[in-house]
Amino acid sequence: MARPSGSDSSLVGRRTSTIKAHNLRAILLALLHQRATSRVRLAQLTGLSNTAITNLVDLLLVQGIIVEEGRDQQNGASTGRPPTLLQLAPSSRYALGVHIGIGTFRAGVVDLTGQLCAYLPRTFDPAMPVTDVLTQIAALCRAAIDEAGIAPERLVGIGVGASGLVDAEHGINVLSPNLAWRDVPIGDILSRQMGLPTVVDNNVRGMALAEAIFGVGRATTSLAFVYGRVGVGAGFVIGNTLYRGSAFVAGEIGHMTIIPAGGALCHCGNTGCLETLVSETEIVRQAEMLAVRMPDSILAAQLAEPMQPPIERVFAAARMGDQETLALLNERAHYMGTALANLINLMNPDMIVLGGLFAAGHDLLLSPIAETMRRRSFANLGRAVDLRVTGFGPHAGVMGAATLALDTFFFRQQPCPLGLPSADVAAPLVQVP
Ligand SMILES: [Zn+2]
Repeated sequence: MARPSGSDSSLVGRRTSTIKAHNLRAILLALLHQRATSRVRLAQLTGLSNTAITNLVDLLLVQGIIVEEGRDQQNGASTGRPPTLLQLAPSSRYALGVHIGIGTFRAGVVDLTGQLCAYLPRTFDPAMPVTDVLTQIAALCRAAIDEAGIAPERLVGIGVGASGLVDAEHGINVLSPNLAWRDVPIGDILSRQMGLPTVVDNNVRGMALAEAIFGVGRATTSLAFVYGRVGVGAGFVIGNTLYRGSAFVAGEIGHMTIIPAGGALCHCGNTGCLETLVSETEIVRQAEMLAVRMPDSILAAQLAEPMQPPIERVFAAARMGDQETLALLNERAHYMGTALANLINLMNPDMIVLGGLFAAGHDLLLSPIAETMRRRSFANLGRAVDLRVTGFGPHAGVMGAATLALDTFFFRQQPCPLGLPSADVAAPLVQVP
């Protein structure tokens, strides 16, 4: 899927100053978050001069990235016609998102305003050679583009959310313990197979960015996203920018010590880590032990029901009033709340968003997690933190991955960091005359 190139067009980040790219991003994000905005209001929101707004808005209008629609009746001038409203054109650009989980991968297409236009999940055998997995992922990407029915030249690139440790600068999955992958150059392989700029990061980090740009955290300046399934991890977004840490390891909340002595052995080699207490695997294991002790309980009956994933059966037993299950979940929520209190003391975010099993069981877990988090955080910090659940549901991973691509290749206008021939990545995302 080679992209058109032209000698008189290039990525804005290559030809214009960093300041211009920064100003463009400010305008695009303001338009995204405000929906419909006048030029005057854009200048107020971004702090840019009227001349800068006029020039950049004209550039975006010519290329169909924004459209003029309606008039600002509330904030118009006292005399004359109300100013024209500007909006992003959702179908002007798209990104492809790939979420790689343990035994599953999902591909989706997301438009410029964060709407999911196609979503295709697949399972795979984790023992399969990684090159075969990536070939299957590329095939699923092509199927997702077909399903979305979009013109390939409107795709800004591919974002990949991988599990474990990811070198985002080079697109390498350095270590995925649950898949036994080491130093896999996902970005290089996928970008060559698809002929599209590709960015790779940790999957939870992508989900955090999606919440900050398109999700419940749109109005925040600092946000932590905490996701739990087989593993437990976090992503931090400060001022709409991901914080990755000096070696791409920021956010390993799952390995925060919660039981300092006598805790269970974690796969990281330490003991008493949060992950050994609140992962889906551990909660299900604890519930199965309870069911063995109480074979006539609601929990035992639910666990024998094969229709749903085991964690959903545990949640179902609690919702049906099984007291032992409720006590188990309260205890796990207490551990999670303790970890979040520690996170708040370190980071002091505006908002914490929960995903994965914490979102699936939010009716049971959110209240006790919040109670412990607020009680154990320093001073009154915890009371000021807005604790939320992701609104993306099972699509959080694909949304996160696609947001990585939109943010990198469109909002930030960065060139593909990988080894693609330049002709393949020279498509004009925003064409500067
Ligand atoms: Zn650990």
